[in-house]
Amino acid sequence: MKSLTEEIVKRRVLTEVEKYPFFQKAVIALSGGKDSGSLLHVFMEVYPDKEVIPVHLNLGIGGFSEASERFARMQAEKAGLQLVVFNLEKELGFSIMDAKKLYPKVCSVCGGFKRYLLNRISFELDADIILTAHHLEDFLVRMLKSVLNAGFEELARFKTYLPRKGNLVAKGRPFCRVSENLIAEYAFLKGIPFLSEKCPIGRKENVERFRRTVEILARRQSQKLLYFSSLTKLAEKLHSCGAIPMPELKPCSSCGFLASSETCSFCARVRKIKAFLDREKAASF
Ligand SMILES: [Zn+2]
Repeated sequence: MKSLTEEIVKRRVLTEVEKYPFFQKAVIALSGGKDSGSLLHVFMEVYPDKEVIPVHLNLGIGGFSEASERFARMQAEKAGLQLVVFNLEKELGFSIMDAKKLYPKVCSVCGGFKRYLLNRISFELDADIILTAHHLEDFLVRMLKSVLNAGFEELARFKTYLPRKGNLVAKGRPFCRVSENLIAEYAFLKGIPFLSEKCPIGRKENVERFRRTVEILARRQSQKLLYFSSLTKLAEKLHSCGAIPMPELKPCSSCGFLASSETCSFCARVRKIKAFLDREKAASF
C-alpha cells in the first residue's frame, strides 16, 4: 500500500516535470545524500521510460568525498544503473581542499565548479536535461536572501526550469515544491542508502540563519508553499519588467561553454589554482 508521503512526493514531482518540454535523456546529479538519492528513486518510479544517467562528482574533500561516492554508488546500484564518476583530483590535478588554500571561502567556488562540471559532463553525454535535488527550503532561503539583500539580479534570474541555451544543457529542479522533511521520510520509507554526514568544510553560517528564519516564518508546509509561490511571482515580475539587464552570454575563450565573461569563471579559477599550486611546489624545494 502506498503511503501518503509517497503519494505527495510523486504527485509534486510529476506536476513539476510535466511543465518541462519533452525530454528523453536525463542526468541526475547524485551527491550520496538523501535528497538526490530520493530524486533518482522517485523519478524512475514516475518515469520508467526515460533514460537516466546518474552522475557523481568526487571533489576530493578527504574521507567525506570517499563516503559520498560510496553512497552514490549504492544508490545507483539499487536503481540498477551505472554511475558516472568525475574525480576532480584525477581529472584536473587538484582537489577542493587544494583550492581552499587559495580561496578560503571555498563554498561558492565549489558550487560554481559543480554547476560547470555537471553541465560539461551532461553536454558530453548528450543529455537533454540535468535534474538536481534542490528542495523547497533551499529555494526559500535563496529567494529570501536575495530580497533582504536587494539581490534583485539574482532574484530575477531565479527559475525552477532553465531551457537549453547553446551548449548549456536544460536544468530542472523537480523537488522545488517538496520540503526536506518529506524527502527524508521518503528516503527512510524506500530504504534508500544515504550519507547523513554534512560537508566538513561546512555550510555558511548566514545560510543556516536564513534556514532557521524560514522555519520560524512558516511552521506549516502550506505556508512554505504559499511563500514559495509569492516569491516566484515576484521573480517572474522582476524578470519580465525588463528593468534588470540579463548578462549577454558568449563562448568562453578557453573551453567554449557559454559564459558572461571573456573567460568563464571555471577556466579562470582552474588556471589560478594550478599556478598557485605550482608556486607552492617550487617554494617547497
Ligand atoms: Zn571556460
